[in-house]
Amino acid sequence: MSNLDATPAITPCHAGPGAVTELLAAREVPLGGLRAMRVRRVLPQRARSTVGAWCFLDEFGPQRLEMTVLPHPHTGLQTVTWPLAGEIRHRDTVGSDVVLRPGQLNLMTAGHGIAHSEFSVGADPLLHALQLWVALPAASAGVAPHFEQHLDLPRFTGVGAEAVVFMGELGGVRSPATTYTELVGAEVALAPGGGRLPLHPDFEHAVLVIDGTVRIDGVELAAGPLLYLGLDREHLEIDSAAGARLVLLGGVPFPDDLVMWWNFVGRTHEDIAAAREAWESPDPARFGVIAAHHGERIPAPALPTVRLTPRRR
Ligand code: MN
Repeated sequence: MSNLDATPAITPCHAGPGAVTELLAAREVPLGGLRAMRVRRVLPQRARSTVGAWCFLDEFGPQRLEMTVLPHPHTGLQTVTWPLAGEIRHRDTVGSDVVLRPGQLNLMTAGHGIAHSEFSVGADPLLHALQLWVALPAASAGVAPHFEQHLDLPRFTGVGAEAVVFMGELGGVRSPATTYTELVGAEVALAPGGGRLPLHPDFEHAVLVIDGTVRIDGVELAAGPLLYLGLDREHLEIDSAAGARLVLLGGVPFPDDLVMWWNFVGRTHEDIAAAREAWESPDPARFGVIAAHHGERIPAPALPTVRLTPRRR
């Protein structure tokens, strides 16, 4: 893509002292209870547990498989399910039963506690999706659970880039999804030749490539790892000879240390132990029941024998 402006302005690319480029490798994780299903996990990392309030990012597929994730609980977070290929049926304990397709968002706010199941459906077993979690800030960590599905998400059109904004805000375009902190989550289609995105300098950002290859600050990035970009950027210049598809994540740095264990996010060991105990009891007052599964569920693993301690950012 060429700049057709006859008198192109010199555009300074403001990148302050907080701007970095850190390549965070994905690790392959087998998902318990699923035959032959492995995911690539890029968050949390030992060196970095959050990007804004984004605290978890798994990419699974593209892979032909039947996904069967029985009911399991969550607390203290929102699950953001973003399919890239395939169809996923979601059922939960606040009564939702929906099918999700690429370009659509499932957002489940666990708050005090919810449980859900996820099954692949549809004629084509090819599945490719991102599973993200957003940590809830302390004041909202115990909100009543709720679920929303957004079928029609707004688009931001930038120079050489078109983005579907699924969470938060990008370039003045805001997703209708409920958020509790200032953040962004967007799927970006980059034109051949590359493009440019406006950023909030008070957000930290990271990029995950879905298809193709890009170059950011001289770092070549393809599918797999997460490129952490730090703070203090007003724009992001992304080079890509052939074009690419990527996901941009960002947000105001999360202020709290979190304890993340299994499917729970809390502040203390006691938060996690109480959530586990309620799931194992089971305590339907906390996590509810999905009648269609007739009591089938994923049991919680044993708590470690040492106290769970918060991860520092
Ligand atoms: Mn889940």
